[in-house]
Amino acid sequence: MADNDLMEKLVSLSKRRGYVFQSSEIYGGTGSVWDYGPLGVELKRNVKDAWWRAMVHERDDIEGLDAAILMHPKVWEASGHVENFTDPLVECRNCHRRFRVDILLAETGAAEMEAARCPSCGKTGEWTEPRSFNLMFKTFMGPAEDSANVVYLRPETAQGIYVNFLNVQQSARQKIPFGIAQIGKAFRNEITPGNFTFRTREFEQMEMQFFVKPGSDEAFFEQWREARFKWHTDVLGLSPDRLRYHPHEKLAHYASAAGDVEFYFGGTIGDGGWGEIEGIHNRTDFDLKRHQEYSGKRLEYIDPAAGERYIPYIIETSVGADRATLAVLANAYREDVVDGETRVVLSIKPSLAPLKCGVFPLVKKDGMPDRATQIHEDLRRRGIPSFYDEAGAIGRRYRRQDEAGTPFCITVDGETMEQGTVTIRDRDTMEQSRIAQDQIPAFLAERLA
Ligand code: ATP
Repeated sequence: MADNDLMEKLVSLSKRRGYVFQSSEIYGGTGSVWDYGPLGVELKRNVKDAWWRAMVHERDDIEGLDAAILMHPKVWEASGHVENFTDPLVECRNCHRRFRVDILLAETGAAEMEAARCPSCGKTGEWTEPRSFNLMFKTFMGPAEDSANVVYLRPETAQGIYVNFLNVQQSARQKIPFGIAQIGKAFRNEITPGNFTFRTREFEQMEMQFFVKPGSDEAFFEQWREARFKWHTDVLGLSPDRLRYHPHEKLAHYASAAGDVEFYFGGTIGDGGWGEIEGIHNRTDFDLKRHQEYSGKRLEYIDPAAGERYIPYIIETSVGADRATLAVLANAYREDVVDGETRVVLSIKPSLAPLKCGVFPLVKKDGMPDRATQIHEDLRRRGIPSFYDEAGAIGRRYRRQDEAGTPFCITVDGETMEQGTVTIRDRDTMEQSRIAQDQIPAFLAERLA
């Protein structure tokens, strides 16, 4: 289970092993923006690929899309973001730091603002009246910086799907029910960012919008709710006891049913350590109706067989790639004591681990480095990310790979040179087995599937 300083431990491990770095660190960092290092980029990519496989490649009824970040400004009027994408903001009169009311109350455990203590300076109840703050980043398109040229950095990827609904449906010749999936950057000028990559101002979303016939929406909502929950345990490998489904009591302006998949991060995240990683919403026909109204273009689905035309309802599943990746890291982090020393291990599911295999010569002589290099290069050719390491004591090399989350380490030793066998060490059990060198690819393939 997570302890309270898990986030701090993850921040430092991430920097040490090259998972995540603070953005623009040499300039003192940028507020709540993070960069993924060599291992982090691989892990996040594996998470995104696993989502794409489950949502697009393994299905005939969902198509992929990659829409632009910059969209026509009217999109955000139609979507309701210009008017409604606001958070109530308060400022501490003492230290002038600003906070989002709901997050402040959740994190301080206060029932009302008067009782809330400022997390920055410690004063209680010194708050300004809440005021609305729009979370969209504004910029200008073209050379003139005037109001006619304002565009927004998209705060969600979903709108790119709605405005392309008919393009995709017609070009891919899809029939309702069908979905459109997209992975891409989104930007929100969050008032209270923090908790490492949990809440940042630039992040990636993996969103799928499923278009259904009105009346069938409630059944599809249930189906997607179950399918998505299962993905987090079966594909990401998150422990079931750290996952829960939380239905929303208060619904957004566009939704008729909604709920979140929450993961237990611990610490100050969300509600007592439980933080949303995915939202599932029944958005009704709100979005397509509004785009039809604002664009003046019909956005109806025509069903020639039934002789019907209608605006479909939409079931949305929306998961943050960064939050899902953080959940994988938090879920994987362990400390155990081996021979009186603390061992830090990232028990990431092998299919998601950035490196699959470390390859070491036991000593730097007797032809062992050459043989180990051969094995390493062979694995690389087969598309199995592997890491060659001959530096330092063998125990240290194992520990480095444990921290990096590498599930297997292969060591070339004297017996390799005589009998053609190597040892394979399992990250989680630390057990070593001996197998023939030519069995390595089959051994790994079976365990990485
Ligand atoms: P929250 O209540 O935490 O602000 P939200 O309900 O606004 O989140 P959605 O709009 O439903 O979030 O976005 C869907 C997903 O996008 C979330 O489940 C989360 O994984 C991710 N996400 C949203 N905002 C952020 C952020 N600021 N940083 C990282 N990921 C985010």
